[in-house]
Amino acid sequence: MGTSRRAQEINEAIKDARKLLPPSRDEIWRQVQAEARDETSHNPRTVAQETRANASLASLRVTCPICSSFIDEGAYLANGSLVHRACLVNLQASVQTADDNVNRDREALASLKRERDSQATFFGQFKAAIRGSKKDPQELDKLVNDVQRNLKELEETAVSRKATATAIYDLLLDYPPDWRERTKAVHDRDDVCTSCGRSRDLQVHHVTPLGRGGTNRIENLTLLCERCHRREHNVRSFSGRGITSGAGTAFAERIQVISRAIKAGADVEFLYRKPTEESFHKRVVTPFQLTEVNHEHDSETTLCLKGFCHLRHDDRHFALKRMRSLRIH
Ligand SMILES: [Zn+2]
Ligand SMILES: [Zn+2]
Ligand SMILES: [Zn+2]
Repeated sequence: MGTSRRAQEINEAIKDARKLLPPSRDEIWRQVQAEARDETSHNPRTVAQETRANASLASLRVTCPICSSFIDEGAYLANGSLVHRACLVNLQASVQTADDNVNRDREALASLKRERDSQATFFGQFKAAIRGSKKDPQELDKLVNDVQRNLKELEETAVSRKATATAIYDLLLDYPPDWRERTKAVHDRDDVCTSCGRSRDLQVHHVTPLGRGGTNRIENLTLLCERCHRREHNVRSFSGRGITSGAGTAFAERIQVISRAIKAGADVEFLYRKPTEESFHKRVVTPFQLTEVNHEHDSETTLCLKGFCHLRHDDRHFALKRMRSLRIH
């Protein structure tokens, strides 16, 4: 019996020692499960759903693609990310500065080259002597090389800043700062109304509207005459800019409502039309995350809500562009 008593003592000692240790992962997990079970009576979410919702909560701590710091308020992009409005302004300014620097050095280089070429002639040397120019041809050559090297670096900076800006403006849910450039590119490419061939009163139109997941990429823009444009939007009085802008805001609102629901652990409800269906059907969904999906029915990736569908009792993807009347359930 002595051995068994000794075993009991050891067991007690281990139990006491355990109390002093931080809880193990398994213990924490058991606690979380127990708490979730308690909540199940008034909350129909399963433990698995709860865990996924928590995981996506962490994934919602997004960073601004321009400054890389955390962000919870700003302008939404078509892929569901957020940018600081101040960062957009700074980005635009830095693109402008880079362009200005390139132009300044191009002018300087051209003037140096003119001076060098002119000194190569007898008359040029004569003029330089009269003006009292101190620069000899070798000195000028060296200057030209220096400016050329510097210009190459400035041009590379300008190109890379422009590329960053373009990639973000592509996804902006409103008219981007470089809209004039894009408009010009579309005019150059299409030349006439792509619907009827008229060449007057031309306007740039988003093929897939911003409100339905469209982008500002040149491929999503087309030239329409005012008459065809109005028919496309199916409205009587029509000022080109207002309509798509409002739809873009609606898309940003959808992202906002879903993000808020995920953070609050709330369900969302909306009317949904599948690409294969004619009419909208009501859905109630427990949202987990916003994610870009490459769907067979779309040419580009599209922003989707991934969540637990209460109608199908399964995890499903829902494209934001096919939603109507979205609200917190
Ligand atoms: Zn930022
Ligand atoms: Zn037309
Ligand atoms: Zn349009």
